[in-house]
Amino acid sequence: MRTHLLAAAALAVLLGTPSAALAQGQIIIVNVDGVDEGFNDPTPAEPVGGNPGTTLGQQRLNVFERAADIWEAALQPTNDVFVTAAFNPLAPNVLGSAGTTFVFSDFPGAELSGTWYHSALADQLASEDLNPGFADINAQFSSNFVFYLGFDNNEGALVDLLPVVLHELGHGLGFANFVTEATGELFLGSPDVYSEYTFDVVTGKIWNEMTVAERAASAINVRKVSWSGLSVNDAVPGVLSPGEPYVGVSTPAGLGPFMLGTASFGPPLASPGVTGDVTLADDGVAPGSDACTPLAAGSLTGKIALVDRGTCTFVVKVKNAQDAGAVAVIVADNAVASPPPGLGGADPTITITSGRITLADGNLLKASLAAGVVNVTLGLDNSILAGTDRVEGLMMVAALNPVVPGSSISHYEAVASRNQLMEPAINNDLTSSVQPPEDLTLNLMTDIGWFSDRDGVPDGRDSCLGSDIRPTVVIGTCDSKVENLVFDDGCTISDNIQACYQARHHRHHGGFASCVAHYTAKLVRWDVISGREKGAIQSCAARDRGDHDHDEGHGR
Ligand SMILES: [Zn+2]
Repeated sequence: MRTHLLAAAALAVLLGTPSAALAQGQIIIVNVDGVDEGFNDPTPAEPVGGNPGTTLGQQRLNVFERAADIWEAALQPTNDVFVTAAFNPLAPNVLGSAGTTFVFSDFPGAELSGTWYHSALADQLASEDLNPGFADINAQFSSNFVFYLGFDNNEGALVDLLPVVLHELGHGLGFANFVTEATGELFLGSPDVYSEYTFDVVTGKIWNEMTVAERAASAINVRKVSWSGLSVNDAVPGVLSPGEPYVGVSTPAGLGPFMLGTASFGPPLASPGVTGDVTLADDGVAPGSDACTPLAAGSLTGKIALVDRGTCTFVVKVKNAQDAGAVAVIVADNAVASPPPGLGGADPTITITSGRITLADGNLLKASLAAGVVNVTLGLDNSILAGTDRVEGLMMVAALNPVVPGSSISHYEAVASRNQLMEPAINNDLTSSVQPPEDLTLNLMTDIGWFSDRDGVPDGRDSCLGSDIRPTVVIGTCDSKVENLVFDDGCTISDNIQACYQARHHRHHGGFASCVAHYTAKLVRWDVISGREKGAIQSCAARDRGDHDHDEGHGR
């Protein structure tokens, strides 16, 4: 079954018959720009940053070829992947967009039945071009931007085109769902492979198992929607760093922690951060809490000022609070936006820490202030790897409230540090890597199956050495009595359950149990084990207290 996904892809051109039986496929950029525009723009250009092109158009094309080469080396596709690409005027602030041209389900080699796959991934799993003569990916880039066209990530104040192209190709290769987040509806009523690993850590459900209403609710469950795939989460500790921006609350108990949007001025957030009692600002001019008018000298000495957004700029508010003696400023949003955006602006005379919290969290703080002392810390929470959720410790995807079509869910969460290629916005500290130790994009490709047909195991892992080959699945001291099947690559069910330990880096017992629940549910769906066997394994996982000895035996 195949279905055209994007109306825009009706432009897809016939590409001729790809040559069969190539040992390795290529990612082939098909220039669909018109005469003298986009890739064909004849404006002379000086070679820059390793890009030898001498026209604007040639330099753009060279960047695309470079991005295609990087993906090609990482994925080593067995089939050619055809990408139609063009430069066109796009909406302001949109650098580019790309997606699969077609989606496929129930093709030979599909791991999940009744589930949509991106064209390039479907070809990979089927080991043939399922749609000969048609492009797999359609990509558009903005002709409104002056991009940096070098290969050396030395973009200065410009936007670096190479990571933008790598990002957009990532979407086309599989880093995207086909869900309408605003309504929760699936594409033509069927689940997709990306949503198989999109996991709400509060409800414990994956997106493909949710009702339409549950998916719509999960889409805005900010920083509580994560990627459940093992390859990504295995790699997380080697890529991300501790330090999520936050407002920690020591008094009253049970409040917070709150998400904190960072300021582009003042000192950077630190750990342990700035601690103090919170005072709601009052500048005496209604609304007094906006701190747009200078406050009485000394009125905020030693305090962390809570200030409402609105009327004047962020730097005016923070400066007024600083002048009144505040040691830090929390700006409470006046509109629903979560996670909280940062505070923009510049003022080199600001020397105190500040940041933005959501409207809802601001209201919680105010309610607590009305009841008594509130003591908080603004800074970096080093107990958490920035980009992982606080419930399961998994890599988060971008649940946004309100939903942003095209950005929600089909990206990693922007709080990730180091910054990730597949965040909703491109950061200027990106390298051109798609894999560890810099990046987690290739791991997601592994999870959705890019390498599965090579090892025969639908588990997103390459191989297992030093396998747990006991005849039954044993967790800790609990024998589930379920046959410990060996997959084609030598990995056993026990090995894959063991990976749940590593993915959670032993932090959360609950995280291990839910990882096992998720994995065994998939084994049932794939007809590898029965529902009763799933229950037996899960009950062993629930009893396990992390007191296990088989880490060493897992020689990866
Ligand atoms: Zn994107």
